[in-house]
Amino acid sequence: MAYIDGRWVDQARRFEVRDPFDGAVIASVTDSDDAMVDAAIDAAARAFPAWRSRPGPERGALLGQLAVRMLADEPRLAELCTRENGKPIAEAIAEVRYAATFLAWFAGESERIYGETIPSSHPGQRITVVREPVGPCALITPWNFPYAMLTRKLGAALAAGCTVVAKPAAQTPLGALAIAELCHEVGVPPGVVNLVPSADGARTGDRLIGSRQIRKVSFTGSTAVGQLILRSCADDIKRVSLELGGNAPFVVFGDADLDAALRGALVAKFRNSGQTCVAANRFILEAPIAETFTHRLVAAVAALKVGRGSDAGVNLGPVIDDAAVAKLQKLVGDAVQRGAKLLHGAPPDGRSRVVAPIVLAGVTRDMAIWREEIFGPVATLRTASDEADAIAQANDTDAGLVAYFYSRDGARQNRVAELLEAGMVGINEGLVSTAQAPFGGIKHSGQGREGSRHGLDDYTSLKYIAQRF
Ligand code: NAP
Repeated sequence: MAYIDGRWVDQARRFEVRDPFDGAVIASVTDSDDAMVDAAIDAAARAFPAWRSRPGPERGALLGQLAVRMLADEPRLAELCTRENGKPIAEAIAEVRYAATFLAWFAGESERIYGETIPSSHPGQRITVVREPVGPCALITPWNFPYAMLTRKLGAALAAGCTVVAKPAAQTPLGALAIAELCHEVGVPPGVVNLVPSADGARTGDRLIGSRQIRKVSFTGSTAVGQLILRSCADDIKRVSLELGGNAPFVVFGDADLDAALRGALVAKFRNSGQTCVAANRFILEAPIAETFTHRLVAAVAALKVGRGSDAGVNLGPVIDDAAVAKLQKLVGDAVQRGAKLLHGAPPDGRSRVVAPIVLAGVTRDMAIWREEIFGPVATLRTASDEADAIAQANDTDAGLVAYFYSRDGARQNRVAELLEAGMVGINEGLVSTAQAPFGGIKHSGQGREGSRHGLDDYTSLKYIAQRF
């Protein structure tokens, strides 16, 4: 079903949602057609004046209730996430909790949409700046965090006074549908949240972006689609936020605490089977510790258990689909053919979506696996001769989402953090995502920030009022 104007709407055309582990069909979902997308846009536009006029604390109260309902439903939501996305159940539980933190955070922020007054240079004049909601928004989300990528947008949009039409990824619409159910239950007014699942992201995306009633598009997904969206938004000068792909370096300096670096590496690389935008793609090891760290990484990777996400003790579930397997086959095969050395694992054989973790040494900068976002459980290793070499290698990418490094030297921590070209830096930290912090990238990793007080900026416009008295 689609959720439009507070009602569940169905139609004959449907698409199947499959368990990534074995390809079994787990649901058949309404494939929203153009008329449904238009109806959702109209509903969001109609609901906007009343929603923006509601006092911030009232909007926040509903967001707070939504967070509570999400947490109360944790077991069901986590199980659903593991089924449609494949991630281990412990990670699915963590995602439900993480997703709810955005609702709770923005519940509070809805009370703090502050403006300002500015002293004027003209006598008898007052300058006031207020922040107003941009209007109905299109929210387009990926499959790798079906809840969190939606709530990170939804929380900010609703707190700011915007109404939304959301389009989840075709592989994982069930989590988004569950969130829409909860919105309905807690009494989010009709039209404020609309959800249009679809089998064809390009068609639905074009319809949303082509509408003059949609004033902003917030997109999380691949850089290639982000570029298309940015171009399409030019005609109508729509506001656009883009949370795009990464190619994160993970630098281990000679003075690092190797236990901490190893723990951080496993989280940064293998969470969600490496299918996170903040995944460590490129390990850069300073020469003095390179051999020791490599041995320890390979031993730790060998102990990881792969399998069905719902099975006990599984660390890595399947990758999302056959295209993801094919991409890994290509990237790893190409690297090995060009001289990279397999220290653990083997190129996927294509018979299963469960891909055992792979460690590749001797990677060079001309290999596609160094340049492209891997989005799978493959760690690539290179050695750096010194700090300057490590920084140069870390910045050797078009992406700029996150960079990690491990060092115990305080001066180096400050120096290197400033020189890394990324929107986020983890120092002795392999997990940077949290509702309190501004998440987002530079360069080809996007524009705009989600989470933190800055997360509201993308959903508000400044209005300056000059008043003569
Ligand atoms: P994707 O293929 O770009 O799809 C993302 C969303 O866009 C889906 O809902 C998709 O719908 C839709 N879409 C596809 N083509 C479109 C078009 N022409 N116009 C409008 N919408 C369109 O990305 P993905 O494979 O789902 O997600 C993985 C990517 O997301 C990775 O690159 C990852 O790094 C990035 N990501 C970034 C962040 C971040 O915060 N920076 C977070 C998570 C993921 P369909 O599913 O129907 O195709």
